[in-house]
Amino acid sequence: MPGAAPVSCSACGAADIQIFYRVKDVPAHSCLMMSSREEALAFPRGDIELGFCRGCGFIGNVRFDPALERYSAAYEETQAFSPRFLKLLDEVWDDQIERFGLGPGMTALEIGCGKGEFLVGLCERSGCAGIGIDPGYRPERTRSRAAGRLSFIRDFYGPKYAHLQADYVCCRHTLEHIAPVFDFVRLVRETIGDRRHVKVYFELPDMERVLQQGAFWDIYYEHCTYFTRGSLARLFRASGFDVKRLYKVYDDQYLMLEAEPAAAPTEPALPQEDDLESTTALVAKFARQVNERVQSLSNTIARHHAAGHRSAIWGSGSKCVSLISALGLSAGNGSEPGAIVDINPHKHGKFLAGSGLQIVGPDALGKLRPEVVLIMNSIYTEEIRHELAARGLEPHLVPL
Ligand SMILES: [Zn+2]
Repeated sequence: MPGAAPVSCSACGAADIQIFYRVKDVPAHSCLMMSSREEALAFPRGDIELGFCRGCGFIGNVRFDPALERYSAAYEETQAFSPRFLKLLDEVWDDQIERFGLGPGMTALEIGCGKGEFLVGLCERSGCAGIGIDPGYRPERTRSRAAGRLSFIRDFYGPKYAHLQADYVCCRHTLEHIAPVFDFVRLVRETIGDRRHVKVYFELPDMERVLQQGAFWDIYYEHCTYFTRGSLARLFRASGFDVKRLYKVYDDQYLMLEAEPAAAPTEPALPQEDDLESTTALVAKFARQVNERVQSLSNTIARHHAAGHRSAIWGSGSKCVSLISALGLSAGNGSEPGAIVDINPHKHGKFLAGSGLQIVGPDALGKLRPEVVLIMNSIYTEEIRHELAARGLEPHLVPL
């Protein structure tokens, strides 16, 4: 086998790593916006080899090379243009503020705050102060009545920020971009020190659903690590946290963990943590399941193509880049979709890394009039149906 497996798991240190899924030569980034087709086509590529730790259930890309990372202000990950996504944010804000009694005089720290939407909303609603850290933060996008209580650091979180003290530490959709996961969670724990009242909240994609559904478009280079409820809880417990709550939201796509600092590593206490056996079984059949899904999707696309149907993909994020790469949809072989649509106006006119396809806004579909639209995330199906209907379009929808 080319590329030997790593000697140890980056979550628990065990040496028992099983490689179970491989994809070669995929774009190293999928949310970076390219301003020209040439730049998008020439974007660096890397390989994916998912390794499963039989000791703790952690899954990571053993071929991940951090030297290919290019996080910057050109990183466009926000989903805050979707009403469905905003509804989720609403629910999380209310839930977190109420559960942890966030209010004036308290400080929230968000590690990997992106464009800052979550932190801004949290501070506006609760009255607390906020510190956000992210290399992709864009100050010009923050317009808030809470601005006086907010500060942002455009950088990666690291030991030099261990002095930042907060009463609430959150980290959303960031851990899956970090390779040394134990070191990262341990650093969060060390930052908190003996301030035992601090509450911690993490949110990230759930790998159990991806394994169950053979959702290969949810595996991409930017995500170098993957967790189920059990493996995430084991990492936090080993890092000196007590896990208090572990649950899924958003059609089970997102995994949420709430923890409190403990004096030492803690023992499993929640029934959801007990998933090592079931994850092992899912891992064993994942590659076969992916083959079936790739085949079935390729057939669907070929059928529409043969019928002369115009097609579009709705959703230009990482899932889309991964799907295009896995199915080999490209201008070179005439199989490229007629349009890649996104509702985020900051993406319009930009190009997708790898395929070099250009992103357009929903209005462009009025001209294309596609007969079939692939929806990259089924949770947005009704929202997209509505957007299409508003433009007099009723194409066949294929939600993933
Ligand atoms: Zn492990």
